[in-house]
Formats: sequence, structure tokens, C-alpha cells
Amino acid sequence: MNSERLAGHELCPRKSTWSERYVGFRISLTAALYSAVDAGLTTELDPEKAAQDALLTVAAKPGLDIEGEGVYGIAMHYARLSAIVSVALRSGGPAWKRIPDTESWTSACYDSGDGQPRRVVLVDHWGASRQAVEATSWRTIGELVSLERPILLTAVEIGTTRLRKRISPWTRAYRHPRNKVCRFRKRDGEESFGGDWEPVWREDCELKTKDWLDLMAKDGCMDAIKTSRIAVPQRPERYLAEMKRLSGELDSEAMRLAGCNDRMSGACPFQVVCHGAKDSDPLRYNFKLRSSSDIHDLACGIHGT
Ligand code: SF4
Repeated sequence: MNSERLAGHELCPRKSTWSERYVGFRISLTAALYSAVDAGLTTELDPEKAAQDALLTVAAKPGLDIEGEGVYGIAMHYARLSAIVSVALRSGGPAWKRIPDTESWTSACYDSGDGQPRRVVLVDHWGASRQAVEATSWRTIGELVSLERPILLTAVEIGTTRLRKRISPWTRAYRHPRNKVCRFRKRDGEESFGGDWEPVWREDCELKTKDWLDLMAKDGCMDAIKTSRIAVPQRPERYLAEMKRLSGELDSEAMRLAGCNDRMSGACPFQVVCHGAKDSDPLRYNFKLRSSSDIHDLACGIHGT
């Protein structure tokens, strides 16, 4: 059992079951980003390079699930985003380790070196309502009651999406037209930058990642990483009982339309199957059966479709 199965099943049993059984011919930007950040966090080598390479690898094959022109530019944008987020989270420390599996649970949490389970979530914006959603989701509750320990929930604000790019200090700075200094936000007491500072994307800027991060810190932007400690809920047995009950349903193909365009998960990749003209068989829509390594990625909480 793992948290991804529980959360996915709750949203739409069919989507969860099919996500474990089939893989689409392309990978979503969100899945690619999580996968690349995971590579950056867990590598013994250079996290920046590992994250960037991981994203560009899946962008080359199977490819990103985006349409239209500029696909390479979007891949580079997300590659640089995954790289800088990985470097910032690692903070020069050793590779993060996965929390070991128990007999019945595959954790998606990391040990960043302090021995505490840590869940990483990439969000547009982190506020009280999103925190409440995450704290009471199976992705958190499942970990808490299975590991029987508090977990650290580390949220990284990566900004909203505009024209398929994420807008945040991780990805965009303002550069002075003459002295080329990059800035991110006004500091206390400062007037505005003025109209002649030009926006520059991370992937188009010659600054090294460390220098970019130093400038972000100077402008007070490292508050884009927020960590909270979530305690084990009272009466964990009620959740464990529900998990046991749900485990008997996990192969269900029942449709739940709430998952088709969920606000947080985005458009379901199986829409074309469920709402298409042909039989509801993913194999008839270019999906293929997953390999065992794909299934392992899913168990580790890397969104697979
Ligand atoms: S398209 Fe809707 S009903 Fe079909 S699997 Fe996805 S969420 Fe479920």
C-alpha cells in the first residue's frame, strides 16, 4: 500500500486502477517535474545535473504531454526549475534517502539527513487552505499512521502557470538593462524597480544556480519553501481500518467524474478513453501496459500519467 494509491482511489477508482496498469504515450508536466526533483534529491552526484537530465530524458522519451510549438523551450524551463528546486532543497547537503518500506507500506517520504520523514509537495501557492487540504489527504495521513511518526511537510511554491511556464522567483528574475543585476522582489523601504528592468527566464540567464539562489535569498524569496510538522492523528486505528477496507477495492474500475478535471490534479489523462467514441479500453487509445519499474515509480509517489 502507498499514499498515491489511497489518494488516487478516493478521487476516481478507475483512474487509480488504470494509472497502475497503463502508461500513456506522453508524461504530464507535473509528473515530469516530480520525477526530476526526485532525481535531484536522491542522487549522490550533482543534484542540478541529475534533475535537469532526468527531465530532459523523459521529455525526449516518452515526451511531455503538451501540444503546440515550443516544446523544447518548455522542457528546458521545467528542467531548470527542477534543478534549482533540487539544489535549494538539498542546501549543499548529502543525498536524501527514501524512508524504508514497512511490511505493508511503501513510503513516498524522504530522510533529508535528520532522520525525520519528509514529504515534498510542489504547489502554486501555499496558504492555510492548501495546507489543510494536504494535512488531511491520504498522502499525508497514510504516511503518518503507517510510519507511526510525525512527518515534515515541505511545500515548495513554484507559482502559477502562464503560457505553460511557471511564474515564480525560481524561474524568473528582473534584470537591469545596463548593469545586468538581477532582482526578484522589492525589499522593505524600496521604491519599485522602475519600468526598464526586463524579465529574464532562468533558462535564458547566464547566472549560475548558486548565484541565482543567493540573489533570491537577498530579496527574501526563500520563503517559497515552507516546512510544517504534522503530528500523528489521534486514534490512528480509524484510518488504518479505512485503509484496510479500501485495500479491498483497489482494483475497481468504477468511474468518478469528479476526477476528470480535478482542480489540483488537472485533467485526467484517461478522458479520451472514458469520454471517447471507442470502447473504454486504454489499449485502444495508445496507452500501453506498465513495466514493473514504472509501477515502482508510482508506489514512490511519482505521479505516473
Ligand atoms: S476520465 Fe474521469 S472517470 Fe475516467 S478515469 Fe479519469 S477521472 Fe475517472
